[in-house]
Amino acid sequence: MISENISNLNKRIVAAAARCDRQSNEISLVAVSKKKTDQNILEAYQAGQRIFGENYLQEAITKTQLLPKDITWHFIGHLQSNKAKLAAEHFTVIETVDRVKLARLLDTHAAACSRTLDVLIQINIGAEQQKSGIAPEAATALLEAIKDMPQLRAKGLMIIPPYNQDPEKSRPYFRELKKLSQSFAAQNLFYDNERVELSMGMSQDFEVAIEEGATIIRVGTALFGARTY
Ligand SMILES: *Cc1c(COP(=O)(O)O)cnc(C)c1O
Repeated sequence: MISENISNLNKRIVAAAARCDRQSNEISLVAVSKKKTDQNILEAYQAGQRIFGENYLQEAITKTQLLPKDITWHFIGHLQSNKAKLAAEHFTVIETVDRVKLARLLDTHAAACSRTLDVLIQINIGAEQQKSGIAPEAATALLEAIKDMPQLRAKGLMIIPPYNQDPEKSRPYFRELKKLSQSFAAQNLFYDNERVELSMGMSQDFEVAIEEGATIIRVGTALFGARTY
């Protein structure tokens, strides 16, 4: 079932990219495997999936240690400062950097284990109180600070818009994130300003996200089936 889901997803990604004259190979699919078993992940792996996203650090570390070494792991959950060390040791990409203090800790711990981390800045566009993410106005200073952190490469931006059944409700957030990334790129705030990553879109709304410029989509339910907590 998982391999069938992946093949369906890839078809939908190709179709969405074609609708807006984009190349589908510039869009990475992150398989969100939180609460899913090693067996589930291996099934996706055997179907060719190599990028996985996890939200809970302890759960994720067990998986990163047991599963094949050519998997690229993205951390996509809220990251507490006291967990920065473990995140820096076990993940390739941290998508949820939203404060200078966290960035500094990641830089220090990455240096200690001679690693370089790709990071995305999680933006909170709607200023939603319950969500993590930095306000757009504050992101410039964070990106400036990261420029002086040798182990971190600020690759782009990430967003989790408010959940809505209607994927069209996400579109303004995606559009805004893209605009923001263009303005930051014009100020040379990213590691590579010619190729800025935009992590946006989940099971519900990834096609809209692709239309609005997503380069990374994070899909759980549509790939692995519903999660049970
Ligand atoms: C759980 C989660 C996803 C995947 O959500 P689905 O709706 O299951 O596709 C994507 N991004 C983040 C940050 C998540 O926490």
